[in-house]
Amino acid sequence: MTLVFLESADDELSRQALTLARSLGGEVRAVTVEGPYAPAAWAAAIVEAADGDDIVGPGSDRGNEVLAHAAAQLDLPFAANVAEVRGDELTRIRWGGTLLEEARLHADRKLLTAAPFAFVASVDSTQAQVLAPNLDGAVAVVDHVAPDTGGKVSLADAKVVVSGGRGVGSAEGFAILEELAALLDAAVGCSRVVTSAGWRPHSDQVGQTGTKVSPDLYIACGISGATQHIAGCKGAKALLAINADREATIFAHADYAVIGDLHEIVPAVTAELRKAKGQ
Ligand SMILES: Cc1cc2nc3c(=O)[nH]c(=O)nc-3n(C[C@H](O)[C@H](O)[C@H](O)COP(=O)(O)OP(=O)(O)OC[C@H]3O[C@@H](n4cnc5c(N)ncnc54)[C@H](O)[C@@H]3O)c2cc1C
Repeated sequence: MTLVFLESADDELSRQALTLARSLGGEVRAVTVEGPYAPAAWAAAIVEAADGDDIVGPGSDRGNEVLAHAAAQLDLPFAANVAEVRGDELTRIRWGGTLLEEARLHADRKLLTAAPFAFVASVDSTQAQVLAPNLDGAVAVVDHVAPDTGGKVSLADAKVVVSGGRGVGSAEGFAILEELAALLDAAVGCSRVVTSAGWRPHSDQVGQTGTKVSPDLYIACGISGATQHIAGCKGAKALLAINADREATIFAHADYAVIGDLHEIVPAVTAELRKAKGQ
């Protein structure tokens, strides 16, 4: 039997998890959890409700975090972002969608999350049991504070993102990207090298360990195109890369390529835009 954890009954990724749970064969029971988000406490409630059954969850941030806690509490292996199950053999989606991993689960009991969009969401209505976890002493989310964007469009919502990497050279070097972004009503993003150097805050980082963006246009300036960066911007409808190195990996992902020094090209683009806008 399988217990499937739904973030909510109408959540798309949860319904995909339901499809994965059903593909395992046998009876499927669904649960949701009420109250503030408290990953360890939620996991404990799910583990208790599962009563020895397999546990499947959505491949969302919460699904993966809760299942990881469940695995730690049960001392069992956990396979996240599963795209296919064949007995104890699995295909998992890794590295931000750039790698398919063939794996074997060394346990009798399965703890899995469904890779987002690897399964068709179940559409029929599901009766889910609502669990009330014990929050005594639990670490829980008590409030959400939106980052202060100073009235500017946020990275996650921007239709255009102007992003800078090591090639920008310094914190001050971002001034030309800020200027271009202001003209395009764009947000400024960056690579991890930039946040590690302290040139920009982590909230600006795009990538596997940063924000995942899906703007109409992503302008990558002085970014080499590492897998972990692409994982954050591959949802962009179009990518314009500006890079001095014609061999840079970023060009393999680019719809538009400009080979040259960003310190010349970005101000030139800004000047043309100003002209076009009559400024
Ligand atoms: C577990 C893990 C998670 C990670 N998560 C992330 C993440 O979330 N986001 C992320 O970005 N990275 C992440 N990384 C780091 C990633 O692997 C790369 O190291 C990083 O993305 C490289 O940043 P970069 O492109 O700015 O720098 P570099 O790779 O050094 O590239 C700089 C580029 O700038 C170009 N350049 C230099 N000068 C100029 C100029 N004047 N004009 C134009 N071009 C110029 C160069 O040709 C080069 O292509 C992660 C790594 C690991 C191991």
